[in-house]
Amino acid sequence: MIIHLKPNVSVDRASQLAKENKAFHVTNGDTQILVTGSGIKEVPQSLVEHTDQYWVFPNDMQLSSRKYQNEKREVSIGNVKIGGTNNNTIVIAGPCSVESEEQIRMSSQLLIKNGLTTLRGGCYKPRTSPYSFQGMGLDGLKLLAKMREEFGLTVITEARDATHIDEIIEYTDVIQVGAKAMYDQGILRACSKIKKPVLIKRGFGTTLQEFVQSAEFVLSGGNENVILCERGLRTFETGTRFTLDLCGVAWLQEHTNLPIILDPSHAMGYAYGVPALSKACTAMGIDGLLIEVHPDPSVAKSDASQQLDHAQFEKLLAELKPVANSVGYNII
Ligand code: PEP
Ligand code: MN
Repeated sequence: MIIHLKPNVSVDRASQLAKENKAFHVTNGDTQILVTGSGIKEVPQSLVEHTDQYWVFPNDMQLSSRKYQNEKREVSIGNVKIGGTNNNTIVIAGPCSVESEEQIRMSSQLLIKNGLTTLRGGCYKPRTSPYSFQGMGLDGLKLLAKMREEFGLTVITEARDATHIDEIIEYTDVIQVGAKAMYDQGILRACSKIKKPVLIKRGFGTTLQEFVQSAEFVLSGGNENVILCERGLRTFETGTRFTLDLCGVAWLQEHTNLPIILDPSHAMGYAYGVPALSKACTAMGIDGLLIEVHPDPSVAKSDASQQLDHAQFEKLLAELKPVANSVGYNII
């Protein structure tokens, strides 16, 4: 249940009422909000006199639900606003992993040349083998911060586990919670206590309900800047790396008020499929794309097969623009 308290209830009083009722307390503008589990169907007796408005939900999709707030939430990624009524499809691009200063500078220059604002690059890589490249760690984060300084880019990088979440939060503008990390309570709770945008990737065996509940961890902790990212599910098919769940995207668009970004690179696993998939995603009227691009994919230290080279990426970008425009969106 979500309860909007009456305007005369102070922040401190709201916080006290939340404690007494084992509820979450969030503030939206001047509105004090309490959130309890969805099992509660009637306003607790002690809250009746303080309640202005309340919503009952059939499950724990609450703050993210269109039933609570029908308007899509707006999130700022640097100077670019997505969601809300902006109709922007932001293209976030860069290598799978930050590998060297030279490589990440070339990626940064590619973005600047094409008028893009947001650079991706993993520094703590959630690899499935301990023998694979694990990422540059803090040195990589410092390189991203250097690119932000040099080129004025917004940077996004992933948190692999809770041990380095403070570093990630300090060095980046947008925190990416990886597909394998989206159940990590330490990461989610740390992300809920900040105001930086958090992009949560859907686990490859995660139901839509579980996915949205990860977002609820961040929202109910007080951070409203949550973005969902669909990046493919594991199915019986082995010809492609994963299966991009566009039905799931339609469901999320219908039922949640969160901006949605799609990652065709990890879904496909092969560069040849990424341009067509990117166009299909864009045609759904989405808030962004996350695309892996590398100056020389053949020598990439992770996800070599799925990264576009710079020429492929520029060709794709030109093709994406009319697709976005045809559904009333702008590539930005
Ligand atoms: C990535 O974006 O590089 C990544 C590892 O993604 P995912 O968490 O979706 O596997
Ligand atoms: Mn990758």
